[in-house]
Amino acid sequence: MSLIHCPYCQSTNVRQVDSGNTQSDYFKQIQQAISPAHMAFWGMRIAKKVGAPPIAGAAVGVVIGGVLIVVSQFYFEKYYGNATHFVCQDCQQKFAWV
Ligand SMILES: [Zn+2]
Repeated sequence: MSLIHCPYCQSTNVRQVDSGNTQSDYFKQIQQAISPAHMAFWGMRIAKKVGAPPIAGAAVGVVIGGVLIVVSQFYFEKYYGNATHFVCQDCQQKFAWV
């Protein structure tokens, strides 16, 4: 009955899976990459180069880091939040179907 085809073997023998884990893993990775500590350090380095007080650079870095997390979360939900995830019963490959 399914119109979904496996992109790997063209099988229609696919099963829908919960995408919740994929999403939380994604955010964990993003938040590790853009943590406030990383962004504060980055801001201090920039401030040093342009001659601004390091504490101001740190504050700017934390704000920019927060904005990046919110923006990436927004785009993730916009483009991937509605995608349905499937696993192929024939070749065991996982794929998303928007
Ligand atoms: Zn397959």
